[in-house]
Amino acid sequence: MSATDDEMTARREAMVREVAAAAVAFARKHGRGAISPRVQTALREVPRHLFVPPEHLSEAYLNQPLPIGFGQTISQPFIVALMTEILDLKPNDRVLEIGTGSGYQAAVLSRLVDTVFTIEISAPLAARARAAFDKLGIDNIQSRVGDGYQGWPEAAPFDAILVAAAPPEVPPALIAQLAPGGRLAIPVGAVAQQLILVEKRSDQSTVLREIIPVCFVPLTRQSSPPD
Ligand code: SAH
Repeated sequence: MSATDDEMTARREAMVREVAAAAVAFARKHGRGAISPRVQTALREVPRHLFVPPEHLSEAYLNQPLPIGFGQTISQPFIVALMTEILDLKPNDRVLEIGTGSGYQAAVLSRLVDTVFTIEISAPLAARARAAFDKLGIDNIQSRVGDGYQGWPEAAPFDAILVAAAPPEVPPALIAQLAPGGRLAIPVGAVAQQLILVEKRSDQSTVLREIIPVCFVPLTRQSSPPD
């Protein structure tokens, strides 16, 4: 590694400022999305360069997605920040993430809430993310290999669910596993995707809001559902 830890910290600070400025511009247009100081602190606390493959180290603090192998990507920091922000997390929330990928988003969530559950369909990616959490001493993330379409029923209900890959429709299991008052941030769509925020009311009804057009990898299924 050529860059020192101090240089990485300086680059990370610049990234947080860039993301915060982009979010202010976004919020002016859309009325929401400014990144709170709490979420900015979480972004400062997580060394993104430890979640990207060595060949992309020099790009770790650019505000862009990067390849992480297996045809997958680590999400753009602005999108990580925006999804985290709209979930309006409280310290006692139980949070589920679908699509661990590099583990970066889960690590950001782990700075904001007591317990994060994260599911990844690719075993090698899940193992790599676990190793990164262990290296950083992050001990409040429970991870498993599996198909996130089904959520994590044994650990439900969740106060917040973040889906980092796009299904054609909101998976019903995820709505079912939201606690009353819970929030679900999910990219939805096959070609043109929208980031959707679903809020579950105390009477179990749901409110859907479109947040922003996005471009995520597809949420794949382990097996096709029966016809
Ligand atoms: N949150 C990640 C970004 C992940 S990209 C990060 O911070 O790096 C999306 C991830 O979703 C990929 O790793 C992909 O393998 C995974 N994925 C796709 N379909 C899935 C499914 N049905 N269940 C769980 N994970 C899935």
